[in-house]
Amino acid sequence: MAKFPEAEYEFNHVLICQKCKARNPANAKRCRRCGSTDLRKKRKIAKKK
Ligand SMILES: [Zn+2]
Repeated sequence: MAKFPEAEYEFNHVLICQKCKARNPANAKRCRRCGSTDLRKKRKIAKKK
């Protein structure tokens, strides 16, 4: 888990480029690395202890 709530929020609301696997902001329209518009939300990893 992230130490800061803000960082955790960003981590869970990041878009992953399906072409180059680069991380992009959740409000990104296209990949900032390769320009692809095939962005998917990252799977939320829920770990409970
Ligand atoms: Zn990309």
